[in-house]
Amino acid sequence: MNENPLTKYFRKPAIYVSLPTKGRFNPEIDQTIIDEIGVMPMTAIDEITLRNPDSLLNGEAMISLFKSCCPSIPNPRNLCNIDAEALFLAISYATYGKEVTHTHKCTKCDNQSDFNIDINFLLNKFPDIDVVEPIMYEDLEIHVKPPSLESVTRVALIQLEEQRIVNNIKTQSKDDADELELAKRFYSSFERVARQNVDLLSETVSMIRTKEADITDRVQINEFLANIPASLVTNINKSVEKITRKPAELNKFNFVCPVEDCGHKETISLEMNPINFSVAG
Ligand SMILES: [Zn+2]
Repeated sequence: MNENPLTKYFRKPAIYVSLPTKGRFNPEIDQTIIDEIGVMPMTAIDEITLRNPDSLLNGEAMISLFKSCCPSIPNPRNLCNIDAEALFLAISYATYGKEVTHTHKCTKCDNQSDFNIDINFLLNKFPDIDVVEPIMYEDLEIHVKPPSLESVTRVALIQLEEQRIVNNIKTQSKDDADELELAKRFYSSFERVARQNVDLLSETVSMIRTKEADITDRVQINEFLANIPASLVTNINKSVEKITRKPAELNKFNFVCPVEDCGHKETISLEMNPINFSVAG
């Protein structure tokens, strides 16, 4: 087959970024490029896929987006969730430019005006989490790592599904169904969610160091997690939470109303997601 003479016009990386975790938990990524991951703009197909709310929900759209725009990452499913959040912003930058315009209606005077969000500024606010302090418990060191994009997506889906079940049960309880039966169904629904959370937790415990050895065996770690006090589970959860999500202030923007005689100042919470990017683009 002849080489397509148009190849040289295909999209190229528009920016290079480093990951918040510096790839520490993803040894499959080529470590020589870890500080400069090339990020290409979205194709038309990427954009269309992202606008489909169903595929957004199951996270598959995000995974195919990373495959398309960050080809140097071999398996986007294994990306740490926080790295995925940063890369998603970088893809938006590569596609739409450094600023995103958002329209906001002043809560005081009802006037609508545009304000710009600097994506570069947001990217620089991501924390470095290449070192994660272990949790100490008696003479153990419990080492945790950020959960993967895949497991966070899976848990979110299950929670949504369970929420639907609970709402369903509530609707049914209006027609005088057997209360004991309803209580049983509630319980089993919550139990499933709880079990999923424990699974997520066990994925994030990467190693437990005892005085004698480093335990990495999944079965042994899971058995340990099932037999420790709830307070320790809470501590592990808190520590994982810190390295899972981007900091809350990344979604907060200061808005000053440009209308003379108003000048109202407020903080707007805005989740940067494909939907508000598509409005801006
Ligand atoms: Zn105003």
